[in-house]
Amino acid sequence: MMRRNILLGALGFLGVLGILVSCSKKAAVIERPAFNSDSAYVYIERQMAFGPRVPNSEAHTQCAVWLIEQLRAFGAEVELQKGFMPDYRGNNQQIYNIIGHFYTEETKDRPRILLGAHYDTRPWSDEEEDYNDRFYNVPGANDGASGVGVLLEVARQLGLRMADSTFTMPVDIIFFDCEDMGTPRVYTGLEREDTWCLGSQLWATHYMQKKNPQYRFGIILDMIGAPDATFPREMYSTQYAANYQQQIWHSAEQLGYGAMFNNQQSYPITDDHYYINYIAGIPCVDVIHYDIRNATGFPWWWHTRNDDMSNISKATLQAVGEVVMAQL
Ligand SMILES: [Zn+2]
Repeated sequence: MMRRNILLGALGFLGVLGILVSCSKKAAVIERPAFNSDSAYVYIERQMAFGPRVPNSEAHTQCAVWLIEQLRAFGAEVELQKGFMPDYRGNNQQIYNIIGHFYTEETKDRPRILLGAHYDTRPWSDEEEDYNDRFYNVPGANDGASGVGVLLEVARQLGLRMADSTFTMPVDIIFFDCEDMGTPRVYTGLEREDTWCLGSQLWATHYMQKKNPQYRFGIILDMIGAPDATFPREMYSTQYAANYQQQIWHSAEQLGYGAMFNNQQSYPITDDHYYINYIAGIPCVDVIHYDIRNATGFPWWWHTRNDDMSNISKATLQAVGEVVMAQL
């Protein structure tokens, strides 16, 4: 991702402080859910081996095919949502959203939990200082592969639960396309609205209109693998899905990850969860690396050529994976 909304952030900040409940007392220990960060790490390496998963590239297609195969291997029924959305120049961009349904006979009619991450990577490293470097693809270890890697391991765990009959909650795992094609800094043409998150915009309109599945809530993972990751409470999530954000951050604290899932408030961030909340009306929470000490709010490697495996930590993947599994 993406872009932060500074004006709305400044306006919302004081209001939000009032409703944040600080979990300051010592939390009770809860059972640690099964999650294997070695496996999540390998799923990230595997995506990186395709090369940057830039839309309209061979690597992007190969990665999409591989993701479909993986979800099927873990027991999902997989749908491919295809369509077009206008890109930042107004040209039609082909979208391929990958949707894996995990359910059993007993759970198939219950409202589902939506877990999502974008699998595309940004065509431009437009946060690079040197102008010439801004035309390189972002490798996308964190910005793309990390969220997908954790959700593939979640998918594997769901498959295991189905096998030993401990599966209770139907889950849709969605790998969104074209999240990160928002207007590049190097573009000098007319500025358009809503150029980020094209896949989730397509899903929230066309897929939901056609199929109208019922969801309890959703979680989006984006840039969740860095060794120094911090996840403050993102403001659109607080605005649209405060109860679920509270529940997720509370689980994190109980699991011992309260310093990572901290109680600071971030600016509102235009990520896939925004359109899921705003268009589809599904309460959806963004877990995204944000650091108020940086000028952009995002980590130093964000939208640069340095977004590579050297900035992926198994300890962070483990934390995020356990927190997600604790919701299922
Ligand atoms: Zn990005």
